Amino acid sequence: MLFIIGPCALETIEQVKPIVSLCKKYEIKHFRAQLFKPRTRAHSFQGLGLSKQGLDIITYLKSEKMAIVSEAASIEQLESIISFADIVQIGARNMQNFELLKNVGKILKNASQEKPDSQFPCVMLKRGFANTLEEWLASANYLEIGGVPSSHIILCERGTRNFSSPTGITLDLAMAYKAQQISKYRVIVDPSHGTRERGLVIPLTKASIAIGVDGVMIEVHPKPWESVSDPAQALSIEELDAYLAVNFAK
Ligand code: PEP
Ligand code: MN
Repeated sequence: MLFIIGPCALETIEQVKPIVSLCKKYEIKHFRAQLFKPRTRAHSFQGLGLSKQGLDIITYLKSEKMAIVSEAASIEQLESIISFADIVQIGARNMQNFELLKNVGKILKNASQEKPDSQFPCVMLKRGFANTLEEWLASANYLEIGGVPSSHIILCERGTRNFSSPTGITLDLAMAYKAQQISKYRVIVDPSHGTRERGLVIPLTKASIAIGVDGVMIEVHPKPWESVSDPAQALSIEELDAYLAVNFAK
């Protein structure tokens, strides 16, 4: 089971430390560590980028042996995170950024040749807000043709736009289930962006696990209401701890 937890965006060392402690408590290895944040509004926080503050947090996470999950929205961003990312995230908005998809395998291959000890990273492809299963798999095929082995491709269901649910987004578990049934890729679910509402995240995590997906990615923040992005969907450490204690106690 692939568990990825972490804040929406990296902010400070103080923000990530308690989340790392939670990871240790449950032997969770993968940490959401977003330096680049694609945001709807130009004035919103765009991420720490390659600032010293951002890179210091990455160094800290590596020193704690966390596996890093980080988004690249462009070829340049991919080149700048490749030295530390264990899973490269391609976000929903870029699911059909074909020029990016074509180049991912090439860039990852070059980077792993330069460092023979490093493992070839995985690539997580999130489904676009309005994309069909066929389009999702066609985009995954771009990654494969570009040189990413199918065993290193992870599909992530993150919900689609709708006009009727309370939050304007529907987490499509039928889609996740079907993707897993018919594709050769691992499939995980993002119940945070897929619900946009804190109170729905744990129930939809349980539902995702019940249908047998390969993992989940959950946003968590020591002070959710102070999160610089997506505060309404971030779980508190205590909320996530309570869920993990009941369901994943060692
Ligand atoms: C994210 O996971 O940080 C994110 C922006 O999600 P999505 O691309 O699914 O909107
Ligand atoms: Mn987010």
